[in-house]
Amino acid sequence: MHIAILPGDDIGPEITAAARQVLEVLDEKLALGLRLEQHPMGLATLDSHASTLPREVLDEARAADGVILGPVSTYDYPPVEQGGINPSAHIRIALDLFANIRPSRTRAGVHYVAEDMDLVVVRENTEGFYADRNMLDGSGEFQPSPDMALAIRKISAGACQRIARAAFELASRRDKHVTMVHKANVLKVTDGLFIREVVKVADEFPDVRLDEMLVDAMAARLIREPRIFDVIVTSNMYGDILSDEAAALCGGLGLASALNAGERHAVAQAVHGSAPDIAGRGIANPAALMLSTAMLLDWLASRHDRPILAVAADLLEGSVNATLANPANHPPDLGGKATTQHFAAAVAEHIQSSSQGDHA
Ligand code: ATP
Repeated sequence: MHIAILPGDDIGPEITAAARQVLEVLDEKLALGLRLEQHPMGLATLDSHASTLPREVLDEARAADGVILGPVSTYDYPPVEQGGINPSAHIRIALDLFANIRPSRTRAGVHYVAEDMDLVVVRENTEGFYADRNMLDGSGEFQPSPDMALAIRKISAGACQRIARAAFELASRRDKHVTMVHKANVLKVTDGLFIREVVKVADEFPDVRLDEMLVDAMAARLIREPRIFDVIVTSNMYGDILSDEAAALCGGLGLASALNAGERHAVAQAVHGSAPDIAGRGIANPAALMLSTAMLLDWLASRHDRPILAVAADLLEGSVNATLANPANHPPDLGGKATTQHFAAAVAEHIQSSSQGDHA
């Protein structure tokens, strides 16, 4: 099983090194047969390859069974013509990663605002209001005159269907409840189409309950009653905003994991950015990327029918949870003093000493 590691910028190399460390421990303990290959990219290759995503790195990502992508600092990149490709957006498009899966749950030992929350936002990743994704040519935002600017939001039946199917398949393995989130009272045509397609897909999953909520009501309900949600399916921008809100309710960005998934490829990528303010200090929280890596292992288990990878995913998530349960292991973003290295060593130790998977 070949996993490509793309370290990214700022805190990226620090947290990908931590994720790699715990993956190596898992591999050794459970004989997973992982081949981990790291490929420099981002600002590290801008001078040497005149690109933040050299062609060969993209080819390696495409050839791998799965990818771990560190956060990138696109603000510091030059224009595309000078090699400043946004690796995150480019890989999502090139590998057709249409589903952005973002779980949020409360964890013992971590300060959270919401009590008892365990939900997943399934966000459409390829169109919507994102100017870099919704046009064949050019940007989805344009400015006809100095004092007027327009943005186009693209919603297509095919994209709605496949994100709905990803949400229902996930809900079938969880609490069998999908909430579709939209703003069809205002965006009657585009969100009307979204609803029509989600409802069609719902017919294929009679065991899963479907309900719906307007995005503004959802933003409030998430705060008041997060426990009532299981899987939330929505378009790109609503999903981006709601998943950040959900993450903030249960421990913050340092714990917010995500998987970008398509039919054939998946990329583990934390929700947070490259955190330039703390880069190089060894204090970044690697938990989000580790939890994203656990999601990747789980996805690989289903895709390749290798149950041992699901055992590895459980063991990794359980070990991160066990590490978080002790505040002495908390990095500064969670109010503690632990370093990235300390956190990684604690997770690695938990994996090594766990009896989970011993007879797998
Ligand atoms: P982007 O737009 O690239 O997603 P952002 O503007 O949302 O980035 P981040 O880079 O995510 O910003 O950082 C926001 C804040 O959260 C910063 O103060 C940063 O230090 C903190 N932060 C983000 N990720 C982590 C992490 N893994 N560990 C600790 N702090 C983090």
